[in-house]
Amino acid sequence: MIIGGGILGTSISYFLSCLNKSRKIAVIEQASRVAFHTSGRNTGKVHAPYLYNPDKKKLFAKAAFHGYDMWEEYAKLRNLPFKKDGVIEVALDEKGIKVLEKYLKWGKRNGLDDSDIKMVSHEELEKTEPEIRCQAALQVYKDGSTDYSLLTRSVMKDSKENGTNFLLNSRVIEIKKENNSWVIKLDDGRIILAKYMINAGGGESMDIAHEVGIAKNLTDVHFRGEYWKIPKKYKSLTKTSVYSVPEFPDYPFLDPHWIIRVDGSCEVGPNAVPVFSPYGYNKSENIKEFVPKMLEMLSSGARKAIMDRQFQELVINEIQSSISKSKMINRVKRFLPSIDADSIVKRGTAGIRSSVINENGKFVPDVILENDEASFHILNYNSPGATGALPFSAHIIDQLSKKGLLVNGVQDAQCGPWRFASILEKMQQ
Ligand SMILES: Cc1cc2nc3c(=O)[nH]c(=O)nc-3n(C[C@H](O)[C@H](O)[C@H](O)COP(=O)(O)OP(=O)(O)OC[C@H]3O[C@@H](n4cnc5c(N)ncnc54)[C@H](O)[C@@H]3O)c2cc1C
Repeated sequence: MIIGGGILGTSISYFLSCLNKSRKIAVIEQASRVAFHTSGRNTGKVHAPYLYNPDKKKLFAKAAFHGYDMWEEYAKLRNLPFKKDGVIEVALDEKGIKVLEKYLKWGKRNGLDDSDIKMVSHEELEKTEPEIRCQAALQVYKDGSTDYSLLTRSVMKDSKENGTNFLLNSRVIEIKKENNSWVIKLDDGRIILAKYMINAGGGESMDIAHEVGIAKNLTDVHFRGEYWKIPKKYKSLTKTSVYSVPEFPDYPFLDPHWIIRVDGSCEVGPNAVPVFSPYGYNKSENIKEFVPKMLEMLSSGARKAIMDRQFQELVINEIQSSISKSKMINRVKRFLPSIDADSIVKRGTAGIRSSVINENGKFVPDVILENDEASFHILNYNSPGATGALPFSAHIIDQLSKKGLLVNGVQDAQCGPWRFASILEKMQQ
């Protein structure tokens, strides 16, 4: 049984159902469709792994590298949107150039080659992108755009054809262990019995883990990433999406980007406003969850983060960028000076990321995998989680298989266009 019909839970169900068609697999999702939350509310980029430290974010980087090729192949096969449209990462000062040099090295170590990524001077960039102001830039050719909602829905269809049961509109409200089985209560009163549970609950995965006694030393903090839709008159301002070097990469505060989505529309975002629920899109949900979440944070490692002066300053900055549109747009105006905040009037769809904090008050950079004999928990599955969801799911199944669980030795099955064993080989290289 898998809790969570995001891109991760759905992809895990697909590979599991492909490898073992006789096993009964259910995905429980509280929303009316898969990818309703973060998986369908992101920037839609299929990321080249140049932003990820190969030592600290090894699993994310590997999964992103292979995930790119897999989504490209899958989208072609199912006739779904995918564009290899690249991204430009700009440095606005000398310090930023040093960071770009580091990103170039990380990108190469994570598998990119000279035709995928290169450093360009601002004079060189000006020839193709005259509106962008910067000191230097990384031109990343192997970066793409897609619609992860559509991809997830298609993977769900494939998984259902293999026999997976998707229980939508079904919220898990209680999990208990009785006689070596999980007894899972849903909000409509139904009870599900399961031998094994995979927790792919995204922003709620930490609460689910805590409920069954896992990862008690960790906690999470939720950040809402907001977007602004850019009017048509700016549609041709750049050919490529533009990111700027994040000033505080150890925190989950990204500087908003200039985004060209797969359908050609443009947006600015996301910021990272602290909220009190993984579903804290609006005031009423945040007011409801404020007291319990604050109490949880103050009695955990998050307390140290909250007390940290720099963290507090960054939080204030992000809250200001939520209240004031021009504050957010001005962050992009630094490298695209011709945009004018007054002409931007429509908000985009916000998505929430949940970052894990350890007992020392530090944000954990990589994904966290925890398990006991009857459950497996994927925590801190953040960006570029959508890019890497397919190979990462295969990796999780390999972990389970090595523990003698769910699949008896990973078979060399053909799952859609991929040979399962070859995905694993690539993840292990
Ligand atoms: C603003 C933003 C921009 C991003 N941009 C990108 C990008 O451009 N490229 C990229 O690769 N990644 C991006 N990411 C990261 C990526 O979107 C996530 O890593 C990925 O979507 C996580 O998928 P998931 O399946 O783990 O979580 P989710 O999509 O959140 O799915 C978890 C599901 O579990 C369900 N659930 C939880 N608890 C219960 C319960 N008790 N009962 C029933 N159901 C439950 C939820 O309803 C939810 O649907 C971005 C993230 C954010 C926030």
